[in-house]
Amino acid sequence: MNGQPMRARAEVDLAALRANVRALRGRAPEAQLMAVVKADAYGHGVLPCARAARQAGADWLGTATPEEALALRAGGDRGRLMCWLWTPGGPWQAAIEADVDVSVSGMWALREVVAAARACRRPARVHLKIDTGLGRNGCAPEDWPQLASAALTAEEEGVLRVTGVWSHLACADEPEHPATDAQLAVFRQALETAERIGLRPEVRHISNSAALLTRPDAHFDLVRTGIAVYGLAPGPLLGRPAELGLRPVMTLSARLALVKRVPGGQGVGYGHRYLTPGETTLALVPLGYADGIPRHASGCGPLLVGGKWRQIAGLVAMDQFSVDLGGDTARAGEPALLFGPGDRGEPTAEDWARATGTIGYEIVTRIGARVPRVYLGEGPTGDEGAGGQSADG
Ligand SMILES: *Cc1c(COP(=O)(O)O)cnc(C)c1O
Repeated sequence: MNGQPMRARAEVDLAALRANVRALRGRAPEAQLMAVVKADAYGHGVLPCARAARQAGADWLGTATPEEALALRAGGDRGRLMCWLWTPGGPWQAAIEADVDVSVSGMWALREVVAAARACRRPARVHLKIDTGLGRNGCAPEDWPQLASAALTAEEEGVLRVTGVWSHLACADEPEHPATDAQLAVFRQALETAERIGLRPEVRHISNSAALLTRPDAHFDLVRTGIAVYGLAPGPLLGRPAELGLRPVMTLSARLALVKRVPGGQGVGYGHRYLTPGETTLALVPLGYADGIPRHASGCGPLLVGGKWRQIAGLVAMDQFSVDLGGDTARAGEPALLFGPGDRGEPTAEDWARATGTIGYEIVTRIGARVPRVYLGEGPTGDEGAGGQSADG
């Protein structure tokens, strides 16, 4: 935006993202690393984050939907790329032609991918998914031998290649939870069955960020890491980002739109849900629920204004909310820091998650398209400490 000051911005520190990817590779040195960039890279902006992850050595990128994977190809990504959330009639042929690895969780999907691969005369790259206990996507263990055998038959016909066997964990962010061991046992059995039938997948994978950080025995050939790439802890039990060698990538800030003195007893915002306790100064922050500020943050969302933590006063509206500065003053245009790495005393996404009863994942992912992403550290070399270069996103 040509250097004009912005209403609000989400700064995305790509040098931090690269350092996170390198740190995570160091935590799973025997495995390949997949950087998960679904949902617009958890709200951080998919193409710059994908490029930065590749620069830092991500062997794979992962998305939920095939459309997200195809958008990466359209954006120029040529590396290994997998997507897993398919619905009947999905764009199988486009994915095969774009050299995207696809996931198959059942016979209907296997039939569709076989038909698509025949139609485009090119073998599909398929990861077979088993539900080891998450109870979500994936083939039920009792159906696994049938799915694996049917996939082998298609492989022998040259229609596809089973490149992966995989699953997803339910409770890895609770290191003591017994479900993880139970899931790993089911997974090992499924791998044995696949092997016995004659499948030779290139990669076996089950770890998310939490398992990457806590369960080396779950790394297998590939780890799929999302939230940790963006510098957030997968859950409060795993420690703070700095303790995990991670740095939060996104900083959300806005510029005060208005500052004014008001008398005591002034109702603030819709429903007058906040009443000024006495004469005071109100500041208006030009961000609202349309920008992804949770309405649940009404009355409790933390932010740094003028060197102090404040709380949202009254309801978060679609485009704006107010803050009571008490005895302090400020000027319109001054920055309000909502969350970031915490270095400057600002709250973190985890603080927002705690205040609003959600998880850091949701806080960053929900930041809306109206907030411009501003990329820092977008160096072609990927050198640390080269940050500072800024471009509007
Ligand atoms: C989102 C997702 C991941 C990444 O999870 P994190 O907790 O963000 O590391 C890994 N695998 C699958 C299947 C996912 O949907």
